[in-house]
Amino acid sequence: MGILAGKKALIFGIANDRSIAYGVAEEFKNQGASIALSYVNDAIKKRVEPIAEKLGADFTFEMDVLNDDHYGSLPEKIKEHWDSFDIIVHSIAFADREDLKDSFVKTSRAGYKLACDVSAFSLVGLSNSLYPMMNEGGSIMAMTYYGSQKVITNYNVMGVAKAALESSTRYLANDLGQKDIRVNCISAGPIKTLAASGISGFRSLLSKVEEVAPMRKNVTPKDVGGTATYLASDLSTGVTGQVIYVDSGLSILGGF
Ligand code: NAP
Repeated sequence: MGILAGKKALIFGIANDRSIAYGVAEEFKNQGASIALSYVNDAIKKRVEPIAEKLGADFTFEMDVLNDDHYGSLPEKIKEHWDSFDIIVHSIAFADREDLKDSFVKTSRAGYKLACDVSAFSLVGLSNSLYPMMNEGGSIMAMTYYGSQKVITNYNVMGVAKAALESSTRYLANDLGQKDIRVNCISAGPIKTLAASGISGFRSLLSKVEEVAPMRKNVTPKDVGGTATYLASDLSTGVTGQVIYVDSGLSILGGF
C-alpha cells in the first residue's frame, strides 16, 4: 500500500529512463498507483514499450499532441483499459533547436507557434479531452521551468511557452475546480535529459545550481517524482493553480 493506492495515472512524455516523467512514474508505482504511458508514434512505441514493461505499466497508448485527431480519439483508447482515472502528468515540450540559441528577437512565427502548440496548448487540449473521464479528487500536473519568469540565456521561445503553460494552469484550475479536479505545475531545476540537450549551453545551468543554489546540488527526476506524488495524492486536496518549485531553492535568489 502507498499514498496513491487505487489511483490511476496517465503519464505523457517518457522518452527514456532519464526523462523527468520516468522519475515520476517510478515514484507513482512505488506509492501503489496504476500507470499508463503515452508514445508519439509507432517508431517511438518501440522505445516506450520496454520502458512500460520495466515500470509495470498497465498499457501504452498513442498521443501526438500536434495531431487534432489524437485528441478526439484519446478517451476511446483509454476506455479500452480503464473506465475512469485520477491523474494526468503532462511532461511534454518541444522547440526548434534554432530557437534555443542566440537572440530571442530572431524567433520565427513558425518556431513560436510550434513551441507554444506542443508545450502549452497541449495541456489545454489534453485536459479538455480527458477531464470527463476523471474521478472526483483528480489531479492534473505539468512540468515547467523558471525561464517563464526570468530571462535565462538561450531558453528564449521556450520561456514564452512555459509562461503560457503556467497561465493555462491557472485558467484550467478555475474551470475544473468545480469538478473537484486540481491543476498545478512543477517548476523543476535543470536536469540532463534529451529535451534539455537541445538548449545551447545547458551545462552551465547545471553548474550554476551547484555553485549558488541554497542546496548546492542539482535536482533529480526522483525529487520531481516526490512532489508529483504529493500533488497526485489526497495530501494536496486544497492545492490548485500553483507553480511549485523543485529547484534546490535557486529561484529564491536575486543577483547571482
Ligand atoms: P524528455 O525526456 O526529452 O521528454 C520530453 C517529452 O516530450 C518526450 O517524451 C517527447 O517525446 C515528448 N514530446 C515532444 N513532442 C511531442 C508531441 N508532439 N506529442 C507528444 N509528446 C511529445 O525531456 P524532459 O526534460 O524530461 O522534459 C519533460 C518536461 O519537463 C518538459 O515539459 C520540459 O520542458 C520540462 N522541464 C525540463 C527541465 C530539464 O532541465 N530537463 C527543467 C524544467 C522543466 P519523444 O522524445 O518520444 O518525441
